[in-house]
Amino acid sequence: MIFLGPPGAGKGTQATRLAKDFSLPYIATGDMLRAAVKEGSELGRAAKEHMDAGRLVPDELILAMIAERLEAEETAHGFILDGFPRNPAQADALGDTVDRSERRLAVVLLIEAPDDVLVRRISGRRVCVKNDHTYHVDTDPPKHEGMCDQDGSRLVQRDDDKPETVRARLETYHEQTEPLVDYYEQRGLLRRFDGTRTPADVGDRIRATVATLRFEEAL
Ligand code: AMP
Repeated sequence: MIFLGPPGAGKGTQATRLAKDFSLPYIATGDMLRAAVKEGSELGRAAKEHMDAGRLVPDELILAMIAERLEAEETAHGFILDGFPRNPAQADALGDTVDRSERRLAVVLLIEAPDDVLVRRISGRRVCVKNDHTYHVDTDPPKHEGMCDQDGSRLVQRDDDKPETVRARLETYHEQTEPLVDYYEQRGLLRRFDGTRTPADVGDRIRATVATLRFEEAL
């Protein structure tokens, strides 16, 4: 299952919930890259300038990073992708990997919202330094200001959630990632969700869609 949509649409929230419900591995390329940056690995150093500028990290780095994960035993019974693929070349590469291992893509869940809503959401987003648990200063504040409810660590703004980077990330999405909407629609895999609704509502609709697919195709 793939989650598609602009930054701030709620992909991470919905994807982690669905992964828990289905006991499937949750694979988020953004999280993997941020971990590499924190570690100071070669990949992290190469990725950071692109991330801070709101651009995509080059395909060859992303594909090398994710190949191992997709071929690992833990993904044999399925996986949930968030933030990958992000352009048609990545989608082709994913298609090849899936075909080679005689698996198939089940569904692409597209969460949409207008840019002004996304900018407002992202600018209020805070994440904890330990585990990337996510909050919003207005709509989903932590119990104690600046502190994660789940692990007590400090809450910060992601470097690329700063206003100057957010506009660039949205532009990158519209130019490079949005063509995947047609790409997957043509393959009959796309399902659309209104990301301006509440997280609970979007989650219910996604669960209903996935339940129907399971019923129809014994997912
Ligand atoms: P995200 O957390 O998914 O918003 O990703 C944060 C940043 O990581 C993006 O703005 C990109 O710079 C980079 N990134 C994440 N996933 C990919 C990908 N599949 N291809 C290229 N760059 C990516």
